[in-house]
Amino acid sequence: MVVQTKLDTIYQMRQSGATLDQVGSRFGITREGVRQILTKHYGSTRIQNLLTTTELARLTDCGYSYIVKLKRRGVIQPAIVIGHCRTLWKPETIATIILYIARHGCPMCHGSVPSNRQVYCSRECYLEAHRYKNQPEEAKKQHNERVKRWLAKNPERARQILQRKQARKCLTI
Ligand SMILES: [Zn+2]
Repeated sequence: MVVQTKLDTIYQMRQSGATLDQVGSRFGITREGVRQILTKHYGSTRIQNLLTTTELARLTDCGYSYIVKLKRRGVIQPAIVIGHCRTLWKPETIATIILYIARHGCPMCHGSVPSNRQVYCSRECYLEAHRYKNQPEEAKKQHNERVKRWLAKNPERARQILQRKQARKCLTI
């Protein structure tokens, strides 16, 4: 049995954005232990009923990178950003994204989205948007090899890209 004050602290730490690991290390319990305590006593490990970027992408059927793009364009604003790279969203953001797409068309081709589809106008655009994810493993491997070769050949460009990527990562994810 976990005493109430400890329980409160665990809950409050979590609600203010601490990771399960951070909460765990404070009390000398594992991440999994914290997950179990929160689930048992509070129903879930969720922070203020907010969604992670991955969840938002899955629920709106968008690619992760499209969510990042919408944030950069100011279409959607996160509820809270924790530390450098954790962004959480209100559930209402789902509606904002769906409305945005209805108004602006398919994210890939800007064509209108038929009522039986949520985000992309067609299976083709969906696959194009998730191209990397849907590639066979072999093609991914080849792609990664090509990227590695290019980076080795263009060290200066590679450095610039990496810098830009890191700067962006801290803003978005
Ligand atoms: Zn399209």
